[in-house]
Amino acid sequence: MAHAHGYAVKDAQSPLVPFQFERREPGPHDVCIDILYCGICHSDLHQARDDWSNSLYPMVPGHEIVGRVTAVGAHVKKYKVGDLAGVGCMVDSCRHCSACAADLEQYCEEGATWTYNGTERNSDQLTFGGYSDHIVVEEHFVVKVPENLDLKAVAPLLCAGITTYSPLRYVKAGPGQKIGVIGLGGLGHMGVKFAKAMGAHVVMITTSPDKGKDAKRLGADEILVSRDPADMHKHANSFDFLLNTIPVGHDVNPYLGLLKLDGKMGMVGVLTPIDPVIGGNLIFGRKSLFGSGIGGMAETQEMLDFCGQHNIVADVEMVSIKDVNQAWHRMEKNDVRYRFVIDMATLG
Ligand SMILES: [Zn+2]
Ligand SMILES: [Zn+2]
Repeated sequence: MAHAHGYAVKDAQSPLVPFQFERREPGPHDVCIDILYCGICHSDLHQARDDWSNSLYPMVPGHEIVGRVTAVGAHVKKYKVGDLAGVGCMVDSCRHCSACAADLEQYCEEGATWTYNGTERNSDQLTFGGYSDHIVVEEHFVVKVPENLDLKAVAPLLCAGITTYSPLRYVKAGPGQKIGVIGLGGLGHMGVKFAKAMGAHVVMITTSPDKGKDAKRLGADEILVSRDPADMHKHANSFDFLLNTIPVGHDVNPYLGLLKLDGKMGMVGVLTPIDPVIGGNLIFGRKSLFGSGIGGMAETQEMLDFCGQHNIVADVEMVSIKDVNQAWHRMEKNDVRYRFVIDMATLG
């Protein structure tokens, strides 16, 4: 075992505090990564507070990890010492079920092994995430980071990026499509950038007209204020796809009215109950409502390569690890544009 240090929560009520722990030594297929940057995801806070009733403590959060390879196992093929590398939300899966065989490890039928708040497949050892100095991950669950991108702003691509990229690919987003992105936060701002880069006509759908200006800077062609009935009426039955990033339960029925015939809405933000869906809102217009979670490893690599080609990164605000509790507090109030990233050099 190798010594590691980072920040952890000890229970659902406590703040993040410095934490010493052990990680495994790299095995034959493992890559050891010195963590340079780690993004702060809303789910870090949800899991730390046990909002989903599945939390394991002590918990070292963090699944938007970018760093440099410091060691590789004897059988590692794609990475060498000194390479840039990324790790996202998962570090293992069964590797043989139909989902894994289809490069959709995030939907592993046995359950993927999450980067933190999980246990390793071959032991009871807790997995510890990226609010730490280094991480050891099997090569298959590591991705290459394009050298031309601003590294600190790459970190959020590993969760917020792939979470929005994957459903856009699933609906074959491209020229000629009208795509709406609902909610302008960590996920939504990436959704706007990707949908625009894929060639779609992009509409930012928000409750707050103030956010409109910034959405245009990010690439939105139009703004739709969802609280304005006239605006909603103007866009009725016109969208091919809606990317719904709202992180809490809400009424999706008004949004279904924006979809045209065969239109689809993909839910990526909310894990808790949503208000009842009126069947007629799906039936009349043959509309679909689906959910999408992160992306498989192959698609995560494709997303990073796409970002390298189109020069896409997240809009980030840097924080020191010592200020991480304050950053969580601000994130709770939506006071971030659009993602906090921890500079892990501040860990000391
Ligand atoms: Zn996340
Ligand atoms: Zn599987």
